Amino acid sequence: MVVTQLPRFHYLVFKNPPPSFKFFPKPKVPIKSTASTLFSAPKSTLSTTEPIPITDFSLPDEPKLEISLDKLFVPPETQVSCDDSSLSTRILKGSNIVLSRYARDAQVVQAEFVKSSVRTEDCPSDGLPEFALVGRSNVGKSSLLNSLVRRKRLALTSKKPGKTQCINHFRINDSWYLVDLPGYGYASAPQELRTDWGKFTKDYFINRSTLVSVFLLIDASIPAKKIDLEYASWLGQNQVPMTLIFTKCDKRKKKKNGGKRPEENVKDFQELICGFFQTVPPWIMTSSVTNQGRDEILLHMAQLRNYWLKH
Ligand code: GDP
Repeated sequence: MVVTQLPRFHYLVFKNPPPSFKFFPKPKVPIKSTASTLFSAPKSTLSTTEPIPITDFSLPDEPKLEISLDKLFVPPETQVSCDDSSLSTRILKGSNIVLSRYARDAQVVQAEFVKSSVRTEDCPSDGLPEFALVGRSNVGKSSLLNSLVRRKRLALTSKKPGKTQCINHFRINDSWYLVDLPGYGYASAPQELRTDWGKFTKDYFINRSTLVSVFLLIDASIPAKKIDLEYASWLGQNQVPMTLIFTKCDKRKKKKNGGKRPEENVKDFQELICGFFQTVPPWIMTSSVTNQGRDEILLHMAQLRNYWLKH
């Protein structure tokens, strides 16, 4: 059973609850929001920067991450305490995400392609919650989608001619959607097409009321790209809930010409975007080769989804 492979969830109730963090980062330049229900938690006043050792179930050569308390993503209705010794067991491996009591029903039992849409209005109208995967061409989006649903070729649908520029909906367990959006930054795409792409996906981000979170994929095997930073800042400024998914974290060979390891690129990327956010967005390190981060993404999606459904 898949469920037995998922990390254990420990939820504790504190006698004197500390202030909780915002569910999603609130940009410094707020514009219009359609996802306001997910932004309501009060800002944390926790000031400690004491690093928290993250419980390490990883391969011996995987680095141990340390994250300060103020860099954690704490879902709403979840409490953390500076002196909570079990906190490290409640943080998803290779991420900054604390588990909440909403992390249930995470496993994928069934996945099916539903439809390709060219406009937001044409997307499925059954009101099920959805998560959109987006990233630069070649970032590993199809590989990640296939890994999440444990199917080798499901995402091929999105690569078929005629569907690459569409919003592709995949229904999971008959209860939620994974949405594959067109890759951006494809150098050989004509300028006209790139502009259209911008308009069409931006409309989807702003107007799709069932969008729970965008999953922005970033290649962790290379230094931050300008277009990815621009994308992250646009999502932040438009208050579109965003999770950063760092891909290709198995590519560990340090390149001779000053290349950095994935965890260094992950840290650099966050430092570069922190100016656009009051608190850090949730992030997860992944690899479609080793399946690192797969269960963590599904648990994160489950807790966002279950919270969204309840509110
Ligand atoms: P897409 O264009 O974003 O859909 O990217 P693909 O999933 O087609 O992957 C692009 C290339 O990156 C392919 O050659 C994949 O085999 C490779 N790739 C994707 N994910 C990973 C990963 O996690 N690790 C490594 N080492 N390579 C990957």
